Amino acid sequence: MSKRNQGITRREFIKLSGCAAALLPVALIATDRAVAQGKAAKEAVQYQDTPKNGQKCADCVLFEPPEACKVVEGKISPEGWCSLFAPKPS
Ligand code: SF4
Repeated sequence: MSKRNQGITRREFIKLSGCAAALLPVALIATDRAVAQGKAAKEAVQYQDTPKNGQKCADCVLFEPPEACKVVEGKISPEGWCSLFAPKPS
């Protein structure tokens, strides 16, 4: 049986796999930072610290207790609201 499989030896494959595994944490950290930097500014989504028409962050699927949001940057009040409000399923 040939040592080669589609132009790469078993030894080369193991080396490349090791490199990929070593780089995975770096890639995950970079992705995490990109997501963090991708949050919208409060002004861009008309964020306010008070509810609007009965809607508030505590009832939004994007709210992350106690004071954060998955898509809007900065400290977010559970009593706040923004134009991205998405109600939790009832
Ligand atoms: S209403 Fe806006 S700021 Fe509040 S949790 Fe939802 S998306 Fe985030």
